[in-house]
Parts: sequence; structure tokens; C-alpha cells
Amino acid sequence: MTTLTPTPASISERTLTSRRLASLRSRLEHELAQAHELESELREEVLSSLESRRDTRTDDAGDPENATLAFEGAQTSAMLAQTTGHAAEIRAALERIELGTFGACTNCGGQIGAARLDARPASALCIDCANSRWDR
Ligand SMILES: [Zn+2]
Repeated sequence: MTTLTPTPASISERTLTSRRLASLRSRLEHELAQAHELESELREEVLSSLESRRDTRTDDAGDPENATLAFEGAQTSAMLAQTTGHAAEIRAALERIELGTFGACTNCGGQIGAARLDARPASALCIDCANSRWDR
């Protein structure tokens, strides 16, 4: 009597099951909502710091408080740009889910590792492409 050999676990681990895809999608949607919230908070902060700088423009240019405000404003602007970029990344990932190309590297077309997708579901690049991008 022959016994059916079960599907090797390695295969099912490598392919994105619809259940896994659904859980990644909800994580991405949650992250997108958070990014949008942070984005509007930071935008308000940038605007108010610009306003407070305008109010004190008549002061000495060397005013240490002004310098601090300018530094904080620059930091907030950088964070805002980062958050906006992250939100765009998440939207692109959600689009790839719709198109059925999610999980494939947008650069080389190779498969993005499951561990990498778990850590960062919005990843558009496989680990090799991401590393070579950082090296440049
Ligand atoms: Zn790649």
C-alpha cells in the first residue's frame, strides 16, 4: 500500500498563500493609516514652526532660540519627507497586491524572502537589490 507524500513544507512556506497575503494587506493598510496620521501631524508642526520663525524674524539672526527652531524645523521636514516616502511605498505595495505581483522584487523580479516581507511588508526590493542600492 502506498502512502501519499505530503507537500514538502518548504514549498508552501515559499509561496504567498492568500491567507498570508490578506494578513500582509491588512498590516499595510494599518501602516498606511498610521503614516497618513503622522504625515498630517508633521505637516502641521512644520507649518507652525515656519510661522513662529516668521514672528521672530525681526530679532537678531544670531538668536540661539531661532537657530534651535530652524534646526527642529529641518528635522521635522526631513521626518515629513520620510513619512511621505514611506506612505508612497505602502501604497505601491498595496497596488502590487491588486496586480498580483506582490512578493516579487521590482528591480530583478526575484522573490522577496518571506522573513523580509514579514519584517517590512512594503519592501519593493529583494535583499540583494536592497543591499546593492545601499552600497552605491
Ligand atoms: Zn531584486
